[in-house]
Amino acid sequence: MSIASQIQRIQSEIPPHVKLVAVTKTHPANIVQEAYDAGLRAFGENRVQEMIAKQPLLPADSEWHLIGHLQTNKVKYIAPFVSMIQSVDSLKLLQEINKNALKHNRMIHCLLQVFIASEETKFGLSFKELDELLNSKEFSVLKNVKAVGLMGMASLTDDLSQVRKEFSSLRNKFDQLKGQLPEFSVLSMGMSSDYKIAIEEGSTLVRIGSSIFGHRT
Ligand SMILES: *Cc1c(COP(=O)(O)O)cnc(C)c1O
Repeated sequence: MSIASQIQRIQSEIPPHVKLVAVTKTHPANIVQEAYDAGLRAFGENRVQEMIAKQPLLPADSEWHLIGHLQTNKVKYIAPFVSMIQSVDSLKLLQEINKNALKHNRMIHCLLQVFIASEETKFGLSFKELDELLNSKEFSVLKNVKAVGLMGMASLTDDLSQVRKEFSSLRNKFDQLKGQLPEFSVLSMGMSSDYKIAIEEGSTLVRIGSSIFGHRT
């Protein structure tokens, strides 16, 4: 099936309030352009170098989402144009994003990445660290970043009840925080293998790569 028909299929399966971000990592700009031509505007990359290489080659109304671990010394390369940094996992990183956003006179939207999987390999804050960050004085003074929600990745497992449990725990946290933070509106969870479960558990943004573009080499 073509990229356009895969996008059409997925769009028809997800409700209108759920945003589709096409994960374009490892795929060249001409392939990203195919997704653009099929109507998608939001693209997710997990590496800064790859994002800054492709961004100038796509139309200016493309939205770029960083979804992979971000080192503080690389924030400056994406600060001029990035739409959303979904993988914020420390106050220090948030402060660095704020500094660079200020330089460019921008407000950068961020998601806080929360560790919900049972594996030890994934990045992210614990619920306790998340609360500490959001309640800190240092966070409250940041004027050029807006924390608009949470991102999480479930365990890579065939045990779908485990995956559902992990998404559900993040959704509960999200609902709780929405009560205190009016700007919270985005819950990013779900990839090719688990987006249907994620949406059932309250996701508002899915990050999908291989179901659109095929397997990465
Ligand atoms: C690669 C990646 C995805 C997309 O994974 P697929 O299985 O190809 O859909 C989603 N989120 C993050 C954080 C990723 O790194």
